[in-house]
Amino acid sequence: MFLCADLDAFFVSVEQALNPYLIGKPVIVGGSPKERGVVASASYEARKFGINSGMPTAQAYRLCPGAVFLRGNFGYYRWYSRRFYEIMSSFSPDIIMASIDEAYVNIKGTRRLFGPPLVLAQKMKTDVQIKLNIPVSIGIARTKVFSKIACDQSKPNGLLIIPPEKEIKFLAPFKVSVMPGIGPKHIYILKNLNINTIDQLLKTPDWVLNTALGSYAKIIKFFIYGGDFNSYDRMKSISRETTLPEDTISKELIYGLFLYLIERGCTTLREKRLRAKTLTVKIRFSDFKTISKRIRMPSNNAQQTIFEYGARILENLLQEKKRVRLIGIALSGFQYDGLQPSMFRVKEERLNQLNYALDRVRDKFGFNSLYPASTHSLKKRHCYSSYGSDARMVGRHSYTAKKDEKLLTNNDTGCDAL
Ligand SMILES: [Mg+2]
Repeated sequence: MFLCADLDAFFVSVEQALNPYLIGKPVIVGGSPKERGVVASASYEARKFGINSGMPTAQAYRLCPGAVFLRGNFGYYRWYSRRFYEIMSSFSPDIIMASIDEAYVNIKGTRRLFGPPLVLAQKMKTDVQIKLNIPVSIGIARTKVFSKIACDQSKPNGLLIIPPEKEIKFLAPFKVSVMPGIGPKHIYILKNLNINTIDQLLKTPDWVLNTALGSYAKIIKFFIYGGDFNSYDRMKSISRETTLPEDTISKELIYGLFLYLIERGCTTLREKRLRAKTLTVKIRFSDFKTISKRIRMPSNNAQQTIFEYGARILENLLQEKKRVRLIGIALSGFQYDGLQPSMFRVKEERLNQLNYALDRVRDKFGFNSLYPASTHSLKKRHCYSSYGSDARMVGRHSYTAKKDEKLLTNNDTGCDAL
């Protein structure tokens, strides 16, 4: 979970904290209205007159001649910003300062220390109030994008949480302008198409959006469906590889590990709401000869499907009939996982539901709380601690997915027959 904390009307709030005479008055930081400056920050009292950041101070003066105009003091603002950062750091080590008065705080794993997110956020607000005497707004959600939207909507001095299962429901009634990165030009074009709210946007066919918004169409949908800043543009591939504790020719073990690596990769894909179009399989033999092969597949993030494609390559690579030392996979060619209605693809939709349910269980009880029967051999024989300690196969429980349970039973019957 991410928490977005943003100080309200920052420059003005600092001025008010330093000079209580300014509290409750329309205050504008940005210089004298006689000069050619712009409003850098306006108090909420000034905003009631229609004054916004970025507006020429001369215009602001016409709207509200009684406002207090201040030149501002950047040295003070920097000092307050540093204190703000320090307060955030006392709650989590993982902080990104998005600007001088705005921070994203990763609050994963803070529950033991600070309680549930709501309690943590209240503590944080009190801390900021006591130490800085500045109001702060806080939004909490699964992604940075949603936490930012929640924070904006909670202003001033607010606190808002979007539960992960209610993201779309929460967003639907809002104007499209709440989305990050959307420009006045986009809003204008959408307005002409009579698309004003997120709900209307989601009901619009992709081709219309692509024509209207160009490359931004993909990004806005990516964000709405839970994609986050940084994950779309920057990440090029997800790879997982593991060196076996001993070189092996056991197909059971090789395929088991192979499926395990694909599952790990797919879990990351789904976490980032991505699908992959390319799979690379890599194998290193005991003589250190390394081969890798790459194929394209229909874009997806289901380990069951990707394994089917991968197994064909793996079989090919194993023609060498040598002991295997290392197995690796890489997923690339990303697309956002739009969860488009797949009326014609029932199987895909089922896998999708199964896998997201699987992720939720693993999130709660650990990755190995559920595993396919075909990776059971890994658990039975080995306990990996080599690179990719993430391949440690010590499960506390041994539930298997239903489909695999059937496989297991079939195998058992097979053994009985022998
Ligand atoms: Mg701010």
